[in-house]
This record gives sequence, structure tokens and C-alpha cells, in this order.
Amino acid sequence: MRIASLGSGSRGNSTLIENENTCILVDLGFTLKETLRRLKRLGRSPDDIDAIIVTHEHRDHVGGVAPFARKYSTPVYMTPGTYDCDQHGILPSLHKVNCHRTFSIGGIGIEPVPVPHDAKEPCQYILSSADTKIGILTDLGHITPHVELQYQSCDALLLECNHDPGMLADGPYPYPLKKRVGGTHGHLSNEQAAKLVEKVDLGRLQHLVMSHISEKNNLPQLASEAMHPVLCDWSGTSYLADQQDGINWIEVE
Ligand SMILES: [Zn+2]
Ligand SMILES: [Zn+2]
Repeated sequence: MRIASLGSGSRGNSTLIENENTCILVDLGFTLKETLRRLKRLGRSPDDIDAIIVTHEHRDHVGGVAPFARKYSTPVYMTPGTYDCDQHGILPSLHKVNCHRTFSIGGIGIEPVPVPHDAKEPCQYILSSADTKIGILTDLGHITPHVELQYQSCDALLLECNHDPGMLADGPYPYPLKKRVGGTHGHLSNEQAAKLVEKVDLGRLQHLVMSHISEKNNLPQLASEAMHPVLCDWSGTSYLADQQDGINWIEVE
């Protein structure tokens, strides 16, 4: 399997995951024009995309879904709660996801994992093909026992490192927004992300992509530093996905 990011952060998120036969976009928070530009950079065109799966209705994840799906007749998968937000308009091919049941698209198996986030019915996804497993985990306020269990054994993990609590407290956000971001249904801090990594099977994990890094309340260096103590004996590779450039293709075996 391969994974790449079109961009990651509070101004837009989208991840590409593919095997030899199937190519899936997870979320699409960019305009059509931006999406085409970013896909091209990764050597893909809209016709390559077999489906878009959506994690939740926040703008940075769904902003580009409906325009893209309407233009290219792309099937879209989301939970009923995410669909109910009434902002999608007509989708040419809508599949409602039961967030407690696995499903598949082409040759890729998809396991939804419900997460605590201030959206209607948010879930994140673990995608697998043959024996390879890729987990995407962003936009959650805390790690639940279920999340910890489901994400325990992945070959690659794209994980939210949203904020540094000190920078969030001292930063420019108004108090209610600070409370929301740092709350139990907001976003993971660097330390919360590191705590999850401490619990995963590091013998299996080959690639860790630190994602959804806030441009106002975090620094890539702080995310890396928080992760450092739990990764010191680890032989895999870590990456920082950013808003502008995401990450280039990573081969996951
Ligand atoms: Zn987000
Ligand atoms: Zn969100």
C-alpha cells in the first residue's frame, strides 16, 4: 500500500491511500482547483480516485468533497450524522457508513473507528490490504480505550499532533476556542499523541506521520520533541505533514 497527504492542518486535510487496484481519498478540505494542483503533484488525476471517505463534517475535511464528487461522479462514504449536516447538497453516489461495521472499496478493507470530537457522528478509519494496515487518526479530543485497542497494530499511522498546550494557552485564539481545541472533544495535543504511540506495537509500526499540526498553536519541532522519548528505540521513520505540502508518497509494506 501507499499513502500520501495533499495537505494537513486546520485549513484543509486530505489523505490518499492506495493499493495496486484502488485509490481512496480520506477527506477533502481543499477547493477543486487546489485539489487538482495537489493531486498532480502526487502524480494522480481525479479519474484515479475510486472513492472519498469522510471522517466528519468540519470544513477542513469536507469543504471540497461535494464539488469534486459532483464533477467526477466519485462515490462518497460518510456516516448518517455527517451527512445530516445539510451542507453537502446532492451527491451523485452516497454510501452511508455504519461506524461500527467494516466495509470495503475495491480491494481495500475499511474499519471505521468512532472518536470523541465535537461533530455529529465523527469516525476515523483504518484501511487494510492483504496484511498491510494504515491508520488515520486526527480530530479527537482524547484517546478512548476503543481507539487505543483498534490502532494498536498498524504498519503506518497518520496521527494528529494538533497543539502544544502552552502555545495554545498563550496563543491568539479567543478563550472559548482555546477551551474547545484543548477539551475532551477537541484535538489531541503533542503529549496525548505521544501517549498513544507509547501504547502501540512499535515492532510493527514502520511509518509515523505527525499530522493536523496547528500553525498557530504548535511547531513541528515541538511535535517531534514530544514524540522523541517514546521513539528512541524505534527503527521506523517519522514524518511531519504540513498544510502546504502534505507528504509525498510513502510505501508501506
Ligand atoms: Zn480537522
Ligand atoms: Zn474536526
